[in-house]
Amino acid sequence: MKQQDSAAALSVWVALESPTSHPAGVNGMMDLVQKDVAGLPIAVERIPGRDGLGDMVVLRAGLDNGQPAVAVMSHLDTVHPVGTSAKELPVRVDGDRLYGPGVYDMKGGAWLALQGFKQVAAAGSARRPMVFLFTPDEEIGSPTSRGLIEEIGRGSKAVLVTEPAREGGKIVTARKGVGRFDVRLEGRPAHAGSRHADGRSAIREAAHQILAVEGMTDYARGITTSVALVGGGTAANVIPQHAWFSVDCRVTTLADGTMMENRILSLKPHDPDVALRITGGMNRPPYEKSAAVAELFALARKVAADAGFDLQDCPMTGGGSDGNFTAALGVPTLDGLGIDGDGAHTLQEYGLISSIAPRQALIKGLLETI
Ligand SMILES: [Zn+2]
Repeated sequence: MKQQDSAAALSVWVALESPTSHPAGVNGMMDLVQKDVAGLPIAVERIPGRDGLGDMVVLRAGLDNGQPAVAVMSHLDTVHPVGTSAKELPVRVDGDRLYGPGVYDMKGGAWLALQGFKQVAAAGSARRPMVFLFTPDEEIGSPTSRGLIEEIGRGSKAVLVTEPAREGGKIVTARKGVGRFDVRLEGRPAHAGSRHADGRSAIREAAHQILAVEGMTDYARGITTSVALVGGGTAANVIPQHAWFSVDCRVTTLADGTMMENRILSLKPHDPDVALRITGGMNRPPYEKSAAVAELFALARKVAADAGFDLQDCPMTGGGSDGNFTAALGVPTLDGLGIDGDGAHTLQEYGLISSIAPRQALIKGLLETI
């Protein structure tokens, strides 16, 4: 396919807005996938969405030889609300850049990987079964798709994830684990003027707890904690009964994940008259660059070299993805195989049109080699 034809076809995907919370849009994306593979030797399974989220689509092709499959995984939800493309981030081409909501994270990767998958299916050049999973909810931690991601992962020889490429086309071979916690505090309300001493401020207690949580950051060990959402109180002259804050935690090892989960869940109140209720835990386990991941990366470098480019990987990244789930099961996983570009989750999001063809060739080569 010519470069401008690829950009035009991808633009159709980007123009269909599909934030996680808008199942009609996400399902529209699933329809586009099904339409794209019609008439090819590819079996399509559509799994209805639940909990107010969109559907999933599973494509199966390749050899039916009882071997473990090679799996590709892409999410079709984005973080951009409906209306973004009509206002702040119109779908447009500017030189080599294709702008639009979710083009980089990760419709570009999903689209180009599907083209590679279709080529291999049509040519009959797979060496084993191939599975392609499209999910509706990665941007909120994959609550409804995690089970299927892990099930497909367990049955696979390798998993290829099409999250965006990094820093000039680098792929991802390790990611930090991610934890999310919610801390709710309940003190005692009182008039801030006449009954000050009777009050027990949930916000003052939250301030102590926030400093304690933020103090758990240990850069040398690759552990970070962030309190980025906070709330509480009812009026300026009432000692606040309620307060709450969220905690984002990132770790590099499974052991540190368990350790941090225990530390955060067992926070004790500074003021015994204020109650703490802490929920949450580690959501995505760390994805470590094991020997098997390194071996798969070496194979990808060779496939890329055959396609005419030098493939590099980047140091462990802070962001989690569905690759964390499969890597944690011990299934060799490569991530960041998607489109090159920049501006994920921002209004400057773009993909580089010139990166589509080489990365499609990489996916195709991997599907034919693994
Ligand atoms: Zn993504």
